[in-house]
Amino acid sequence: MWRLFLQRRLVHSSCCAMKKLKSKTGAEQRWLLRQLKDPYVKASHAQSYRCRSAFKLLEMDDKFRLLQPGHTVVDCGAAPGAWSQVAVQRVNSSGADPDSPRGTVVGIDLLNIPRLDGTHFLCSRDVTDPATHAELLELLPDRRAHAILSDMAPNASGFRDMDHERLVTLCLSLLKLADEVLRPGGDLLCKYWDGILARKLQEELSKAFDNVRIIKPNASRKDSAELYFLARTYRKAIKR
Ligand code: SAM
Repeated sequence: MWRLFLQRRLVHSSCCAMKKLKSKTGAEQRWLLRQLKDPYVKASHAQSYRCRSAFKLLEMDDKFRLLQPGHTVVDCGAAPGAWSQVAVQRVNSSGADPDSPRGTVVGIDLLNIPRLDGTHFLCSRDVTDPATHAELLELLPDRRAHAILSDMAPNASGFRDMDHERLVTLCLSLLKLADEVLRPGGDLLCKYWDGILARKLQEELSKAFDNVRIIKPNASRKDSAELYFLARTYRKAIKR
């Protein structure tokens, strides 16, 4: 019954999309067609994820076991909330599994994020702002997190080098956040767009973490410059 409902919803949304297609510009048409064909978009509808990016985190977590029940996770650039949905499931922050420890998920974004059971969202907040860090600390048990996730992305300007630099700057700001909230031994997963400063970013991460690797999940589009750094085992002590 549920499957039939989902199939109808998919057919309905495809028909609507085809009607809309006629009124769009060339670039918008290409984007819509890509969405319609994308298996991860279909799967995110079927599994009630807020967007396809959920599958990137699911894949990386399945492989590297970042998120454990009872863990505290900070999700930077959390809107519309798909990574937070995955984090809630994996750390059991909604208490869905009464036999496992209950974790904590705090999401931060410049944008508004619709409510999600098991999370606390800091909306209309800038991750780079010290006032956001202060607010975040109050929400973390023991004022510490096991993992910082960042799928943050600035609005694309269309100038590849400029966008790359802006995202690297955002990633570097996460080291400051790590200094304040990440527990020793914790992990940082951050998205970047490949480019000339990637090596510099990797070097900076390597100064603070024991192990830094580059990941391109299958769910990340092949034609995208998007990559992730997974930095594991944070070395620095938290400043108090
Ligand atoms: N991981 C999210 C999900 O699965 O739903 C998708 C994240 S989306 C690709 C990138 C987000 O980064 C945007 O919502 C944007 O507002 C946010 N962002 C960019 N710069 C930010 C900043 N300085 N502080 C907070 N959020 C930021």
